[in-house]
Amino acid sequence: MTPRISGARLLETLERLAAFGGRPDGGVDRVAGSVEDLRARAWLAGQLRARGLVSWTDETGNVFGHTPNVRGGRLLVGSHTDTVPAGGRLDGAYGVMAALEALTTLHEQGHPAADSLEIVSFWDEEGAQPESSGGMVGSTALCAGPHLADLSAFVELHIEQGPRMELAGQELCVVDGIVGVDRHLIRVVGEANHAGTTPFSLRRDAGRVLARATAGAHDLMRSVSDTLVGNIGSLTLDPGAPNVIPGAAQLVLELRSPDEDVLTRCADLVLQHARAVAAEDGCTIEHWMLSHKPVVAFDEGIRTLLEKVCRSTGRPAGSLYSYAGHDAGVLSAHVPTAMVFVPSTRGVSHSPHEHTDDRLLTQGAQVLLEAVIAHHDSR
Ligand SMILES: [Zn+2]
Repeated sequence: MTPRISGARLLETLERLAAFGGRPDGGVDRVAGSVEDLRARAWLAGQLRARGLVSWTDETGNVFGHTPNVRGGRLLVGSHTDTVPAGGRLDGAYGVMAALEALTTLHEQGHPAADSLEIVSFWDEEGAQPESSGGMVGSTALCAGPHLADLSAFVELHIEQGPRMELAGQELCVVDGIVGVDRHLIRVVGEANHAGTTPFSLRRDAGRVLARATAGAHDLMRSVSDTLVGNIGSLTLDPGAPNVIPGAAQLVLELRSPDEDVLTRCADLVLQHARAVAAEDGCTIEHWMLSHKPVVAFDEGIRTLLEKVCRSTGRPAGSLYSYAGHDAGVLSAHVPTAMVFVPSTRGVSHSPHEHTDDRLLTQGAQVLLEAVIAHHDSR
């Protein structure tokens, strides 16, 4: 008989975790390093010990749990318990509470897979503090430290944080990988001049070029590939005064796609278009690539194992790329790694309105437990 997780206990621990930094609107404020985050970590360690399990915290702040008889070559399962400001109660928290529930169930039933499992709540996944360099702090530290040698694989269960599964009627998805993310700075150079005395025909207006380049970039991004999303979230005019024609202007373009060729092609098209509209106004374009995060492809063996487990529960998994970053993206460079998603109601995340039906949360945690057993049996 396959052990069954307790859905009631899972939902109750999720509820109790959500009380740390809980907001009246149902959301959670538990930014990494805050008092609420530290209290939640201490509570998790206490929960582990109360269930007859061992908990330990590394020097970074990652909280781990396992049975007293844990062996080497452990499957690591978990996510993060920090949130963005005014975040939801499921992002990260669900993956950690489901891991706790799976470990507890296997331990209670004396199942041999319990001793090859370790669970984790990573430190600072979100990178939500103003001084942050971008999150994934705990998982990055783990991968640079000695404990990595004790691990054979990593599985992260998470809410989708987007609308695609709900729209497709999918209850489970095995994640193919994480999209690549490129950021470009595009700067228009024109000539600052008096906004009253300079006729339109003699202006080299960097602001006008920036506006046209921005509008054109959106059309190009939508036309280049269905797999691409992009954003222009920062526009600057220099000097930025009502009576001065902008002498320079810049935008930051962020592009995401599971296909790196698409990222390159789109950036080239946007630049070409910007140069063309700049030339019409006597301006020039300068370009810097600010950052490049390559596409992450998750491990085929772990993905196949997760697909089999989903199929055996009678809920065949779909597949998709994650357009958000996760600790699993960091781990996958070091150990075989994959993720499972459950749907997010209306695709809302990083918001107090984050929601997934209890039935789907319970089903996802059961899949996680069965994946732990299948991984144990495969070794
Ligand atoms: Zn998350």
